[in-house]
Amino acid sequence: MADRTIFERIIDGALPATIVLETERAAAFLDANPLAPGHTLVVPREPYERLRDAPAEVSSSLFEAVRTLAPAVEDAVDADATTIGLNDGTAAGQEVPHLHVHIIPRFEGDGGGSIHTAMGSRPDLSDEEMIDIGDRIAAHIE
Ligand code: 5GP
Repeated sequence: MADRTIFERIIDGALPATIVLETERAAAFLDANPLAPGHTLVVPREPYERLRDAPAEVSSSLFEAVRTLAPAVEDAVDADATTIGLNDGTAAGQEVPHLHVHIIPRFEGDGGGSIHTAMGSRPDLSDEEMIDIGDRIAAHIE
């Protein structure tokens, strides 16, 4: 079917990928364009586009798989650390519209930065603005 996401087709076996974990609700496979050896993508089987779209049982299973995989990936490639990230929405750099978590092995001196380097600048917020933002976040929790 034409409207199936790339990741659905990988899970179904219609597209080739190196699959490293399959659970009832999630799957994981190596990124085809790795940022480091072992760069792994963890996805829900169902094609929710964004984290906010996934029901609790799906997001729980997704992050349980991330917890299982992060040390396995790190140990498999003898990495020193791991960056775990999720580009949640196109403005955040999401290119594949099927929710996925990146597990990226990190090595001392690999030249990469922390997730803080994903942003170009930092806002200068007053104490009042911080409190207001915090209040609004709390009010939006469903
Ligand atoms: P995003 O920018 O959406 O967070 O990242 C999408 C990721 O999917 C990229 O790192 C890209 O390399 C990876 N990717 C895109 N197409 C394929 C594919 O067909 N197979 C695999 N294994 N990874 C893919």
